[in-house]
Parts: sequence; C-alpha cells; structure tokens
Amino acid sequence: MPSKPKRPCRFPGCPKLTGNKDGYCDEHLRMRRKDYDRYMRGYVHHKRYGSHWGKIRARYIRKEPLCEACKAKGKIELAALVHHKKPLSEGGTNDEENLMSLCVSCHEKIHRRGHDV
Ligand SMILES: [Zn+2]
Ligand SMILES: [Zn+2]
Ligand SMILES: [Zn+2]
Repeated sequence: MPSKPKRPCRFPGCPKLTGNKDGYCDEHLRMRRKDYDRYMRGYVHHKRYGSHWGKIRARYIRKEPLCEACKAKGKIELAALVHHKKPLSEGGTNDEENLMSLCVSCHEKIHRRGHDV
C-alpha cells in the first residue's frame, strides 16, 4: 500500500496528522459525521411533522374553531385539536375532508372506540 501524504487535522487546535481525504483525523471525522447525522435527522423530522402539519392544523382550526362533534349535538365547545377521520397510518391524508376539529373529551371518546389517532 502506498502511504498517503499526511496533513495536520483541519479541526482547530488538533495536533494529529491525517491522510484522510477531507483533512480530518479519524476522531474528528467521526465527530463531524455525527453532527451531520443529527442535522439531517432534525431536518427530515422538521419537514415531516413540523411546519407542514402545523400550518394545516392552524388553518383548519381557524376555519372550524368549534368542536364539530359537539356542534352536531347542538353544544358549543372550543376545539382543542384537529383529528384525522381516517388515520394517516391507514392511508388517510391531511386534506380538509379528512380532518375534524374536536374538543378533548370528544376526541377521547372517538379514540376509545378503537379508532387510532
Ligand atoms: Zn483532529
Ligand atoms: Zn366536543
Ligand atoms: Zn384523533
């Protein structure tokens, strides 16, 4: 094996020499990969659950601020959350026709019937 030329690690203050392509010693290379993983996971998480669903939910609850199940029974109750009529895990979507504003107690009742999220 031809030995690669070694350069000082690019991490500020690290005295080690390295032949790694991107100029970091093994230890700092690992550290950078971990940061990168964490960053990517955070990004994906944010994209899937963060701003997108948050926006849909906020818009829907602004349109339907009252619990729809209570309203059907002639009661006025402020909605606490937006429920998926057909759960995402069963192929439901974030479309408005699949959403329902509910108060906490109506939401619990629905879920107790065996319906999931
Ligand atoms: Zn280093
Ligand atoms: Zn209700
Ligand atoms: Zn629900």
